[in-house]
Order: sequence, then C-alpha cells, then structure tokens
Amino acid sequence: MAHWTDRRADRGGKIVAGNWKLQPPRGEGVELFRAILAGLGDAPVGAGGPGAWVIPPAPYLGLFGGELSLGAPLGLGAQDLSPCGYGAHTGELGGELLADFGCALVLVGHSERRQGGESDPEVAEKALAADRAGLLPLLCVGESEVERDQGDTIAVVERQLAAVLATLAPERPLWVAYEPVWAIGTGRTATSEQVVEVHQAIRKSLARGGRDGAGTPILYGGSVNHSNAGALLAEEEIDGALVGGASLKAESFLAIVEAGATVSD
Ligand code: PEP
Repeated sequence: MAHWTDRRADRGGKIVAGNWKLQPPRGEGVELFRAILAGLGDAPVGAGGPGAWVIPPAPYLGLFGGELSLGAPLGLGAQDLSPCGYGAHTGELGGELLADFGCALVLVGHSERRQGGESDPEVAEKALAADRAGLLPLLCVGESEVERDQGDTIAVVERQLAAVLATLAPERPLWVAYEPVWAIGTGRTATSEQVVEVHQAIRKSLARGGRDGAGTPILYGGSVNHSNAGALLAEEEIDGALVGGASLKAESFLAIVEAGATVSD
C-alpha cells in the first residue's frame, strides 16, 4: 500500500496545500471551501491521499470535516496544534481532537509561529504530538533574508530539520515545506535554482537521519501564484506548493492545482 510519505504515489498530480492563515471571515470561507471542492470535481485520489489540501483557521475544521466525504479529492489540515492530549488544558487544541474533526495533516513550525517565539524543540514536540494523534506533520523550514545574505541558508534549514529528526522516529510519516521567510507574502518568489538547491540539501539531511530522502514529499512555499506555479512545479525536486495568499481565491488556488496536475501528466 502506498504510504503518506511516498512522493511518487498517485495523487493525481503534485501536492498543493492552501494555508489560509487567520482569514477569511465565515461567509467567505465557507464559499471559498465549497468553490474549491466543486472546482476539484471528481479529481482522482490515489492510495497516497488527496493532492489538494486546505488549511483553514481552526473553527472551520469541524464545519468542513462534515462536508468532506470519504475519498474526497481535498484533504483538511490544521495550522498548528498543542502538544497536549485530551485533558485539563484550557485553551489548547490537541492533535487527537483535530483528527476527530476530520483533519489529516498539520503544519508545524510555520515561520509566522517561529517569529512568535516557537523554538526548534517546541516544533519537534509538536511534530511528535501530531504523529501520536495520527496526523501527518508538514514541517515548515526556511531562512530569513539576513541568514540567506550571510550564506547560512542550508545551515539554518538543517538545524530546523535536525530537531525534528532527532525526535520523530525515521519510519514515521513526515512532509517538509521549504519556505524562505523573505518570500512569504512578499511577492518575491525564490528561483527554481534556489529551491532545488535547498530541497536537495533537505533530502540529504533526511537520509542522514535514516529517512527516505528521495521519497519524502518536499513542498515549496513563498509567494506561489497561478503565474509562477507551473515553472516551479515542473521541477522534479519540487513535490508541491504550500500557498498562502493565492489560496484565498478559488480560481487562483485551482489554477495552481491544475498547474501541478499538468506538469505531472
Ligand atoms: C505561507 O504563509 O505559508 C505562504 C507560503 O504564504 P504566501 O504564499 O502568501 O507567500
């Protein structure tokens, strides 16, 4: 059986995940979700799971989970989780609860959370908690502009990765998103060459950590839109896109999904 971590599994194309962040308001969000679902139609879903994902703010999860039928071409992800399990943890949102509401994936270590003070060990703890709850952790790594200018890109990404690789057993599923901080929400997309170089370094790190580096899906995120997605996703090294701003309009999100399907044909 194909595994979550098998990047070559049939998903009907590359992986495209839309991180909605803290938006949009309820009416628009419901409309957006339904338009994406309708636009995907009966897109094929292979044993490796859906190729398209929405990662909305937490209150949407219960709502959308109830609208997705088994085998739907759209997966549901969360933006963060608490490492706490069920119990007396006021205000926390644990992985088991997310899974109960139809979530299959969760972002860990998004740069907007790291900027809020989340450390590498905390990210690793969350990746472990996600796995324990049966959620697929999508680990976000990436350098700041200063770090890139200083030539520290690979070292930063390796450090962020190492914390998780030291915590999560190598046979447990993990996806990675390379998201240079300077490219997020800025309109400055990394070049294919820059992305490929970092993805190759990530694969080597994964292999050194006892993982299947070649088989692990690695997504790129940072100002991906319908105009640049085709060129990025045409790279064999780039298994998909994590999309912020452009995932908030059904047409642009679906155009990126389509670009991913086209280059995979
Ligand atoms: C993100 O926040 O994960 C992201 C990639 O955002 P954007 O596409 O807007 O740069």
